[in-house]
Amino acid sequence: MTKRVLVKFSGEALAGEEGYGIDTQILNFIAGEIKDLVDNGVEVGIVVGGGNIIRGVTAAADGIIKRTSGDYMGMLATVINGVAIQEALEHAGLEARLQSAIDMQEIGEAFIVRRARRHLEKGRVVVFAGGTGNPYFTTDTAATLRASEIESDLLIKATKVDGVYDKDPNKFDDAVKLDTLSYDQALADNIKVMDDTSIALAKENGLPIVVCNMFEKGNLLRIIKGDMSLCSVVK
Ligand code: UDP
Repeated sequence: MTKRVLVKFSGEALAGEEGYGIDTQILNFIAGEIKDLVDNGVEVGIVVGGGNIIRGVTAAADGIIKRTSGDYMGMLATVINGVAIQEALEHAGLEARLQSAIDMQEIGEAFIVRRARRHLEKGRVVVFAGGTGNPYFTTDTAATLRASEIESDLLIKATKVDGVYDKDPNKFDDAVKLDTLSYDQALADNIKVMDDTSIALAKENGLPIVVCNMFEKGNLLRIIKGDMSLCSVVK
């Protein structure tokens, strides 16, 4: 069974129906799913996105805000989400520690990999915020990076869809879900699992990526126990 896992939640997933902001009921649901993992002896790290608040590319679209500044705004958004997730985890009775890639000592710890590993060993959930700390990256890349750094067995990308399709299922009726695919397949243009930087890093480190629907109750624990029927695996 998987001993240590990193789960990536997109910012968008936290927004719920509103499409913006943070839905506390969703936070509560996520915390419950994570608690199931911890109660089963799994060490859990979380990377959270910021797309429910702001994305660098969008903020910089008309040229008034520079891309690098837009990206820092996006990284700050992930810290807002990280604080919220930390609260929800504690509300669910878990111990949680927020670590930020950008120093913000009043809000969370600095990201220190050895400290993160120690928290995990003690059964604390570590929420990694601030992305990689660098502009021009995504939180998917941050997830792959942190998963590799903490020597996670698996990276779970928790999304709104139940896996990876050979083409966009919203556009094509005959789109087929792929149960497993190689890193090279995941890099193909028609398949958008994650951005190329994150896939390349996962490939280099032999980190399996599981794409699943986060709203399917109990799915995270099923995946940890080896039941991959409701997801797609990139390996
Ligand atoms: N971002 C960044 N560097 C990183 C991670 C994130 O600059 O290492 C910025 C980038 O502008 C991105 C925003 O933070 O658009 C929010 O992250 P992302 O879009 O990955 O969030 P998600 O789509 O998962 O909600």
